[in-house]
Amino acid sequence: MSHTLPEFLAHALAMENEAAERYLELADMMESHGKADVASLFRDMHRFSIMHRDSIQQRTSAIEVPTLRHQDFRWIYPPEVGDEDGFDPTMKPFDALQYARTNEVRAMEYYQAVARSDSDLATRDLAAEFADEEQGHARELDQWVERTPPS
Ligand code: ZN
Repeated sequence: MSHTLPEFLAHALAMENEAAERYLELADMMESHGKADVASLFRDMHRFSIMHRDSIQQRTSAIEVPTLRHQDFRWIYPPEVGDEDGFDPTMKPFDALQYARTNEVRAMEYYQAVARSDSDLATRDLAAEFADEEQGHARELDQWVERTPPS
C-alpha cells in the first residue's frame, strides 16, 4: 500500500465526513423511535467525527488534498439493514449500534492496514494514531451493544 500524505488525509477526511453524516441520520432515527439515550450517543459520535475532520482539515490547510471517488470510504450497509439508498427507518437500537460498530471497525482496519504497510513514514504514523481513535469508538459501541436487548 502506498499513499502520499495528502492522499491518505483525503481518505481520512472523506471517512470522517461520511461517519458524521451517518451518525446524524442514526441519531434522528433513534429519536423518532423515542430512544433518547442511543440518540444522544450517536449525537456524540457525530460530534467526534466533526472534531476529527476539523483537526485533519487544520493539518491539511497548507497542502492540496485530492478529490476521491466515494466507493472507497462509504459506510457499508449490511443486507438486513437496507441498501445504499438509505436506512431502513424501522432499524432498532441494537441493529443501529451493530451497524455503526461494523463501520467503525472497518475504518479501524483500514487505518491499521495503512499503519502497517504504507511506504510513507508520516502516513504510517498518522494512520496508527487514527486507528487508535477508531478502536476507541468501536469499544464504546461494543459496550452499548452489550447492554442493548437484541431486536
Ligand atoms: Zn470513528
